[in-house]
This record gives sequence, structure tokens and C-alpha cells, in this order.
Amino acid sequence: MSLIVKKFGGSSVANAERIFNVANIIIEDYKKGNDVVVVVSAQGDTTDDLIAKAKEINPAGASKREMDMLLSAGEQISISLLAMAIEKLGCPVTSLLGWQAGFNTDSHHTIARIKKINTERLKTEISKKNIVIVAGFQGINKYDDITTLGRGGSDTSAVAIAASMKADLCQIYTDVDGVYTADPRKVKNARKLDQISYDEMLELATLGAQVLNNRSVEMAKKYNVELEVLSSLERKPGTIVKETVKMEKTLIRGAAKDNNVASISIVGLQDTPGIAFKIFNKLAQEKVNVDIILQSVGRDGTKDITFTVPQDDAETAVSAIKTLSDSLKFNKVTLDESVCKVSIVGAGMESHPGVASTMFEALYDAGINIHMISTSEIKISVLIDEKYGDAAVAAVHDAFIK
Ligand code: ADP
Ligand code: ASP
Ligand code: MG
Repeated sequence: MSLIVKKFGGSSVANAERIFNVANIIIEDYKKGNDVVVVVSAQGDTTDDLIAKAKEINPAGASKREMDMLLSAGEQISISLLAMAIEKLGCPVTSLLGWQAGFNTDSHHTIARIKKINTERLKTEISKKNIVIVAGFQGINKYDDITTLGRGGSDTSAVAIAASMKADLCQIYTDVDGVYTADPRKVKNARKLDQISYDEMLELATLGAQVLNNRSVEMAKKYNVELEVLSSLERKPGTIVKETVKMEKTLIRGAAKDNNVASISIVGLQDTPGIAFKIFNKLAQEKVNVDIILQSVGRDGTKDITFTVPQDDAETAVSAIKTLSDSLKFNKVTLDESVCKVSIVGAGMESHPGVASTMFEALYDAGINIHMISTSEIKISVLIDEKYGDAAVAAVHDAFIK
């Protein structure tokens, strides 16, 4: 007998037929004598629809506390419907909201971090032989307010339960049958991976491969939770995410694209010591995550600094820079939201020269101009015009993965 944690994403529970499909997958493992804890996301596009409703009420942006109150409702619907389906199929089941399942988080509404899971209730339900269905993506803070974990956060909920309950298996069911070398919906030559390491998966997820939420991979690595990413619609083995994997011959594990990027340029800055510190210190205070930074020589003793931030933080960043205009001298600040970041990831590239040049050649052959470049041991990212994003991913993918 094992303890199995299964997570089903929004498309897997999008309608009644899909809910019964999921219920049958769960019951199959339960009837083999396993304890089963299930995490579900909101049905289909429910979370997007709720965000749209909030915008109708307040286009300027509601408070984050009220957004969490609203968004957590999506998962409340899906857990109860899935529990009803399991009930109807004759098995004992209980659905639990995040707080009932013991999810304690910090107070960063809409992007809260899990601090601890009190597993008592989960354990009690399991000891009663109930299948437990937990609302993903949500928790409660120390003031008893509902919080959410950020988009795609149900993956993290599942890994957190698997880690704190020391589950034997953590399966992430979705609408594709595993992790591919690129988004299989966009790149026709994308290849399914049997295995991928935590580090490579973490980079891919952070760089835009939405199949797993990056925080969930970070947590899986920290607590050594082996994950399987698999399809809820086809019964076949998926992709295993774990510490070390058999190295295949390929140098590059995958390519990814992130559209949630904006580029900000501060033009004509005075060229004196401490300027970069003042700018990036201010952005840090505003909790803006800065990614690629480029400094270039300007004219007449000035310089330009260009950097990228998540699109959601762009307005905050520009306003923050403008508040510095008294202490910093510059000509103007510009914001460009029509850019995207395309990356390749692979642990093998560290020891192989020529990876960057192959990537840049593929972009050159496709006629795509590069605005910025950033590299680490296991990835290379370029910033390009958003409209070329899909073409760029396909081009760099095909240059490495035959
Ligand atoms: P869920 O609702 O199950 O959480 P998501 O939409 O969050 O599903 O993630 C699954 C989607 O991720 C797939 O439909 C696929 O289009 C996309 N995706 C992006 N990159 C990859 C990749 N490298 N491998 C597999 N899927 C990917
Ligand atoms: N429903 C949430 C979202 O759409 C959480 C999730 O799907 O993981 O982001
Ligand atoms: Mg997801």
C-alpha cells in the first residue's frame, strides 16, 4: 500500500465528462489499496474568467486580498464537483479547501509562499479510508485571510502535500503526455523526454514552459519528491522529474518562450559611480524582479541602462525610476512590452563550446534580430520581438534537437 498524490490541472476537469474520467483514474488507484490525496485546479479557464470579472468591477485593479478571495472560488467549485463524481461512483471521499487541508502561507496575497502544512486533517481523513480532494493554489495566512500561490500554483500545492506527507508517488496530470523539448502545441518536432533533472526542469519552467510551475519544481528538488508529468486523457507513462537522469546524447534539453517580459531603458544617464546601485536598489525595494541587464556607452559622458522585468511589474518599475529623477540625471525612460524571451536549456552545454553560436546562427537564418542576451551554466536566453517568438523557438529547437 502506498500514499499517492495526484494533481489534475484545469483542462483535466473542464467538464462533467472529464471530471468522471479523473474520478475513474483516482478510484483505480484507491481500489488497489492505496491512500490517495488529490489536488485539483479550477475548471478550464475559470481563473481567467474570474480575473476578467474583477476587471469589470475595477479596471484599475482590485486589492490583492479581494483578488485572492475571488480566485480561490474556482478551486472550491472543482473539488466539490470531483468529490460528487467519486461519491456517485460509490467511493468514500471528502473535499477540503486549502485552509482545511492545513495550508499555512505568508501574507503576500496573489503570490503567497507555503510556510507549513498542518497535515492532521489530511491524516485523519486518510485513516478513515477517505479519498481526499484538496483545492490547489490556495492557503490561509496568519490573519486567517485566504491567500493564493500565484498562477499555476496547484502544482506547488501537490508537491507540498507529497513532501510533508512523505508520499510514495506524486503525479501531475495535464493535457499533454509529458515534458517535451519545447511546447508540443507550438513546435511540431518537439520530442517527449522520458526523464529530466530538477535543475533543467526548473530552468525550463522559469523560462516559460508552463507545463510545471517553477516553484513546484524548486520544492520538489528541495524535498527530493520525484514527479511524474503525465496525461489525464491517455493512459501511458509520462516524464519523470528527479535529481539525476541518464544523460542522453542531446546537449540541449529543451527550448522555451516567455511572453511575460517587458524591457525598460533609461537613456542618457550621467556616467558616475553608484548610478546602477541607486536604480536597482530602488527596484528591489519595490519588489520588482529584474532579469537581463545591459549597460551601453552613450554620448557625452552619459550611458544607457536597459533591463527586463516581468510585464506585470513594468508599470511599477517605470514609476519607481521616475521618482528617482531628482537624484539621478537622465533624458528619458522608455518601456517596450512587445518583446519576449526565448531560451535553450541543457546541463550539457557547460562543457561544450559553440552552443551560443549555433543558437545565434539559427536566429540569423530565420532573420530574427536579438536585442539582449543572457547566459548561465545551463541556459542561454535572448530577448527578441514578441511577434517572432514562436518562429524563434522552432528555429533554435530544430538547430539542436534533431
Ligand atoms: P494544467 O492546466 O494541467 O496545469 P497547463 O496549461 O498549466 O496545464 O500546462 C500544460 C501546457 O503546457 C501544455 O498544454 C503545453 O501547451 C504547455 N507546455 C509548454 N511548454 C511545454 C513543454 N516543454 N512540455 C510540455 N508542455 C509544455
Ligand atoms: N487555477 C489557478 C490558475 O489558473 C491555479 C492552477 O491552475 O494551478 O493559475
Ligand atoms: Mg499548470
